[in-house]
Amino acid sequence: MKPVYTYLTPGPSALFPSVATHLQNALEAQVPSISHRSVAFQDIYQEADQHLRALLGLPANYRVLFCASANEIWERLLQNCVAHTSAHLVNGAFSRRFYQFALWLQKSPFLHEVAEGQGFEISQMPPFPADVELLALTHNETSTGVAMPEADLHALARQYPDALTVVDMVSSAPYPALDYGRVDSAYFSVQKAFGLPAGLGVWLVGPRGYEKAQSLEKKGQITGTYHRLTALWKEADNFQTPETPNVLAIYLLAKIAGEMRAKGLATIRESLQQQAAQLYQKAETMPQGRAFVQNPAWRSPTVVVVESPLALKIRTALKEKGFVVGSGYKPFQDTQLRIANFPATSTLEMQHFHKAWEEVMAALD
Ligand SMILES: *Cc1c(COP(=O)(O)O)cnc(C)c1O
Repeated sequence: MKPVYTYLTPGPSALFPSVATHLQNALEAQVPSISHRSVAFQDIYQEADQHLRALLGLPANYRVLFCASANEIWERLLQNCVAHTSAHLVNGAFSRRFYQFALWLQKSPFLHEVAEGQGFEISQMPPFPADVELLALTHNETSTGVAMPEADLHALARQYPDALTVVDMVSSAPYPALDYGRVDSAYFSVQKAFGLPAGLGVWLVGPRGYEKAQSLEKKGQITGTYHRLTALWKEADNFQTPETPNVLAIYLLAKIAGEMRAKGLATIRESLQQQAAQLYQKAETMPQGRAFVQNPAWRSPTVVVVESPLALKIRTALKEKGFVVGSGYKPFQDTQLRIANFPATSTLEMQHFHKAWEEVMAALD
């Protein structure tokens, strides 16, 4: 069956072409029916764990934990790693929502906010209090296409050595080269750059996060129920989960992480960088339009946002040619396009997309 559309949407996104085969294999092996208390499940968890660990350079004392989504991980981080104060760098809808979760959970979060399309000049930022407990950073703000350079993430982490530094890499993992000597936790969900069906959040946590959760529990803080960090961590030691997890999703993740590992992160990064450069080049040379993020240092390698008064027309015409790109994020629905540059899209598909984009622009003239 030939797919009707090529999805270049930043979540949910195009699946890796091999997902179909893995899904069929999983059904043949009756993966959805196996007990999550079986050795067969432990093997699946361990396979996902090992491939992710190798792919992302995760230290041995970090755990790979499974939640339902990145939204869930925001909540778990605040419940388990914050007594009072988190500090949030906000430059769009996703980073703002994490801050909002802190308010909902009646923490006292600090906020440093810049306008949509902007990144952070970290040397000029007013400081947060030194005793802030958690520093919430977003590698890739999907709503605006602004990425934070890894060097800036690490420099900020150094500035707040007592805080736990957590990095949202939902729409960029496995791209960012994080130094887990500085980053205490990072997380993503699988329906973006991992090219998998939605329904799984992957939470990477180091010992400092775990120890913080333990100490808050000792002090009587309610850290949750079945998905307390301490419960997830204890089960993970045995490649188990507290609840019946999304076994099929973990199986598929193991396969895709294995394929990414075989390809090599350096190769994946390089090809995404090249494709991103071509997309930005195209945006900047459009007759009526430009890249929304003007500072090249802040341009996302994985979500390219294009600004044009013709955005809605372009998006509609691209769809007629078989390419689905994301609309702008509120309030930019009809004045921006968001184009996913994820590893699941082949170089050939990208070439076809460029051709379609050129044809659409020529027809609009
Ligand atoms: C999509 C996204 C989220 C939310 O992911 P869910 O899996 O829907 O919970 C969080 N942060 C960023 C940057 C995102 O792009």
